[in-house]
Amino acid sequence: MIEKTVIVIGGGPAGASCAWKLNKSGIDALILDKKEFPRLKLCAGWVTPKVFDLLKIHPKDYPHSIIAFNRLICYFRNVRVPVRTRQYSIRRYEFDAWLLKRSGIQVKQHAVRSIRKEGRHYILDDRYRAKYLVGAGGTHCPVYRHLFSHISPHPENSRIATVEEEFRYDHADSNCYLWFFKNGLPGYAWYMPKGAGYLNVGIGGKYASMKKQGKTINEFWREFKQKLHSSDLVPTREFNAKGHVYYIRHRTPVLQLENAYLTGDAAGLATVDMGEGIGPSIQSGLRAADAITHKTPYRMPLGARYSWPGIIWSGITDLL
Ligand SMILES: Cc1cc2nc3c(=O)[nH]c(=O)nc-3n(C[C@H](O)[C@H](O)[C@H](O)COP(=O)(O)OP(=O)(O)OC[C@H]3O[C@@H](n4cnc5c(N)ncnc54)[C@H](O)[C@@H]3O)c2cc1C
Repeated sequence: MIEKTVIVIGGGPAGASCAWKLNKSGIDALILDKKEFPRLKLCAGWVTPKVFDLLKIHPKDYPHSIIAFNRLICYFRNVRVPVRTRQYSIRRYEFDAWLLKRSGIQVKQHAVRSIRKEGRHYILDDRYRAKYLVGAGGTHCPVYRHLFSHISPHPENSRIATVEEEFRYDHADSNCYLWFFKNGLPGYAWYMPKGAGYLNVGIGGKYASMKKQGKTINEFWREFKQKLHSSDLVPTREFNAKGHVYYIRHRTPVLQLENAYLTGDAAGLATVDMGEGIGPSIQSGLRAADAITHKTPYRMPLGARYSWPGIIWSGITDLL
């Protein structure tokens, strides 16, 4: 049996940030992730200035590909609204591997299947034993499934369905475009240029509202592909997109049960207006680490439910 004070399940932004903070406090921890890093993670890779503040790094010191946007070109139905702001795009393939390495904590490749309690300890797959457990395994996190799902189920109307693809592309247009509510999509579609000659395009929206309209995410995706072809943004590509589901934050998620903590997508913490999940994952990971270290309550601020105030504010501060 391998024994640790804290075991973090999942080495994405939530788990890696939590581990980074635990390591700074000298706490004996281990990360278990079912995948070997760098690994593919479906995500547009839009990050806010707050993400870099939380990570205590200036964007120009980030060692991999990154693009800074001074504006987002938004379309609300068919009305074009350029929004002055300061936002960034990174590639999750690079960003997550960098964060994980930066945590300084030992990582083992292991897919956690079973979790049980023995006295005050958690036993994972009869192989790992820990006093504290951090669930950072994303939407299908085993900590959520085994310990939290029955008392704090993710509400159906918080479920976000997505389809997206990231690919090498010599994009002529390096603006970031967002189309809200196009063809009735209860969410938005994006065209997100990346550094090092990559592009990410995709759509995401509320699953329950799509169902109500009697339309599937794949139908919205077909319409968006036509838009990309006809607008000359991506005129010829045969797309090979994939889907993923995650949850936006509802009012009363349970984040802690005894010594088990839920972070990031495992807790369903993405913002309600934009489905932004990287920032809330990092913030929750850091807060869980603080709560474990100082034996203090673990909470997420209510303000972390929205992205738009930060998007607007970063445009104002950029002008000053
Ligand atoms: C299409 C799409 C686009 C998005 N675009 C954006 C965006 O532009 N900006 C933004 O801020 N957010 C975006 N999000 C949301 C964002 O990707 C997530 O909120 C974020 O990745 C959550 O981070 P996490 O660390 O909680 O989980 P994840 O990044 O999912 O990491 C979880 C880790 O746990 C591991 N794991 C899972 N199960 C097990 C197990 N049983 N045992 C061991 N390990 C396990 C996985 O391998 C994985 O590495 C998007 C999401 C989608 C689907």
